[in-house]
Parts: sequence; C-alpha cells; structure tokens
Amino acid sequence: MLITAGRVLSPTCDGYLKDGAVLIEDHRVTAVGPRSELAEPADAAQAADRDGPGAERLDFPDATLLPGLIDAHVHLIFDAGPEPLAGLQQSNEELLAAMRLRARQLLDGGVTTARDLGDRDGLALRLAAEIAGGSADGVGGPGGPHLLCAGTPLTPPGGHCHFLGGEVADATAIRALVRANIEAGATVVKVMESGGGLTKDGPRIWERQFPPEALAVAVDEAHRAGVPVAAHAHGTEAIAAAVQADVDTIEHCTWIVPGGGVEMRDDVLEQIVAKGIRVCPTISPNWHRLPQIFPDRAEAIFDVCRRMVESGARLIAGTDAGVQRARFGGLADSLGLYEHLGVPNRDILRMATTEAADALGLGDLVGAIAPGFRADLLVVDGDPLTDLGALRRISAVIAAGQLYRPEAAPSR
Ligand SMILES: [Zn+2]
Repeated sequence: MLITAGRVLSPTCDGYLKDGAVLIEDHRVTAVGPRSELAEPADAAQAADRDGPGAERLDFPDATLLPGLIDAHVHLIFDAGPEPLAGLQQSNEELLAAMRLRARQLLDGGVTTARDLGDRDGLALRLAAEIAGGSADGVGGPGGPHLLCAGTPLTPPGGHCHFLGGEVADATAIRALVRANIEAGATVVKVMESGGGLTKDGPRIWERQFPPEALAVAVDEAHRAGVPVAAHAHGTEAIAAAVQADVDTIEHCTWIVPGGGVEMRDDVLEQIVAKGIRVCPTISPNWHRLPQIFPDRAEAIFDVCRRMVESGARLIAGTDAGVQRARFGGLADSLGLYEHLGVPNRDILRMATTEAADALGLGDLVGAIAPGFRADLLVVDGDPLTDLGALRRISAVIAAGQLYRPEAAPSR
C-alpha cells in the first residue's frame, strides 16, 4: 500500500515532509520519502506485479499523515457513563462484547495503541488476544488498537478498585498476583498506591493504601520478569512513595494532600525528573467542565500539570477512558488541556506519540512514521502543528497496515 499526503509528520514532530509518501508492506512501514521518489517505483512494481506493495494507493493531497495516537491509560472494563461500576454486574461475556465496541471507539478517535490499566478476570487481555488474532501480524488491526494490559490491579483488602478482584494482604499475595498477571499475558503491573474517586467505600483519594514496603515488593517482582510498574497515585504522599520505590510510570499524579487541597513537592518532582519516571496525568476529554465539577481543585491540578511540563518531567498522554466523563476515543479533546496550558503543539503531539511509545517500551515500533515501524497511521484534515483541533478531523486510520474508516466523530 502506498499512501501519499500533502504533509507527513516528521518522527520528531517538529515539521513535515511536504508532498510525501509512505510505503507499507504487510503491517510495517518500509519507506518514507517525497511522493515523486516513491510513487514511480510503486507504479512500476504495480505494473510488474498487480499484488505488489504499490498495488493499493491512497492519496490525500490536502491532508496530514501522522502516526496513530497512543492513549496510555484506559479501562475498557468501564463504560464511561455516570455510574461506571454499574456495568460490572454484567457477565464476563456481556462485558467483553461491550469492550469490543469501546476498542472500536478508541480507533475512531485515532488511537492505535492503548494501555489498559486494570480489568476484571483478564477480560482486557482476552480482548487484546482477540484483536491481535484478527490481524496479519498478531499486533492489532481493524478490530481495535494494539492493547497492552495490566490485568488485575493490585490493591489492599477493601482498597481502591477492590471490586476488580486484586486484593492482596501481604508480600506473598503481592508477588503471587504480579506473577499471575504476567503469566496471563500482562505487560505492565498496576498498583493502586492511593485511594481513588471511583471507590466510594475505600481510602480517601489522598491516602496511601499500602504499607511502605509493599510497593517495593511489587516493583521487585515485576522487574524480575522485565515488566514495568504503573502506580496509581493521586496523593502527594503516594507519589513520593512511588518515586521512592522506582516505579516506571506514575498515573494521575494530582498531588492531593489531606483535606483535598493540591500541593506539589518540588523535591519529589526533582526526583521524578532525575529518575526519568514517566507521568501520565490522565486528562479527561471533558477537562473543560472539571472546574465546575471540582471547583476546589480542578484549576490547581491543571496548574501542577503545567509546572510538571515546565520542570522537564516526561509526561505522556492518557484519558482514563471508561471512568465518569472520560469517553473512549476522546484523546484529541483531552490533549486540548495542554494547549490551554500553553504547551507547544509539537510537544503535545510527542506526548501522544514518541514519548508515550518510549514509556510503554515500544519506542522502536510505534509513535513515528519511519521505516521498520508498525504501519499505524492517521489521516487528518488540517495541520495539527498549528491547529491541534485537526486531530479531531480524522478521515482514515491505518492500524497495523489495515485501512479503517472511522465513524463520524462524536460530539463533545
Ligand atoms: Zn485509571
């Protein structure tokens, strides 16, 4: 397949190859270059072999081609409705059917790689295998994005998201669940280090959940298997503990202190930067409504996001899709917060492409349009380097080399 476009985003996200072309063979990009250089050989190949690599042609002379986006924090098990836990009363088969549709919604929103950070009974892992099984190379395709999954998140008895089945009371149980998740196919381990808003009967959002040594045990067990750890941490104390334990990514990272205020600790932020720990702030696609819903702290959380960016912390894009107000496929809307905070579009695009890919251990496979990379591409109407809103005008998605036409973009 040969795709030509008026603009092809460079791997560094700071410019375009004008009037460019991308050659795809099977599920990989094999060449990127000026249309004039690639189109002719492709035409010749087509003439010689009607089924050859140039046989299928897609031309988008006025559009921009960019890598498929990465949403580094989703929960396919939740329905993104006002009561996301209500759906958990469904059977696993019913849930899996709903999750298939949500995976399609992610693709509709231009997401070709997603990290699922907590399910029940390994359902996201089942879906990941199903999507991979339906594609030529076993990595993804029109059924949904390539999924990296955590399986069952670790939490203390009665802790945040205990209803997903991951309650672990001691070090032995922690190690056993980490191993069980990895054996089931998990490629990331999720630990609930603080309380969370979804769990009304659990610890408060700013409270640490685990005793001090527990997180280190989880990190040790996961890292022995070469698997990274994502720590859910809203509270400032939980964030400090996660940094101390050398987790790989900190999720949410809202710096909430006892009582519900927001206070960032500069010494902890310095360590996040020094250790290269990635931060996934999980910005809702409906972020612009949050100041009305959480008048006491939404603006303060936006402000710490800005300060984290300015400090040089490496942020990655994520939506927490599935929880209240966080619809699937809303990543482009979510990125609008960073634009609102004054972050350059180039850096915002990196958060959802190269930076996220690196953080997920996929830096040489996805997040850029380059030879050898998986053929995960978006065609958008407009120039996202000058108008981030172009990311909402997706006319085609190519997932692992397969063309997918999204549904009309849902309104906000
Ligand atoms: Zn989450």
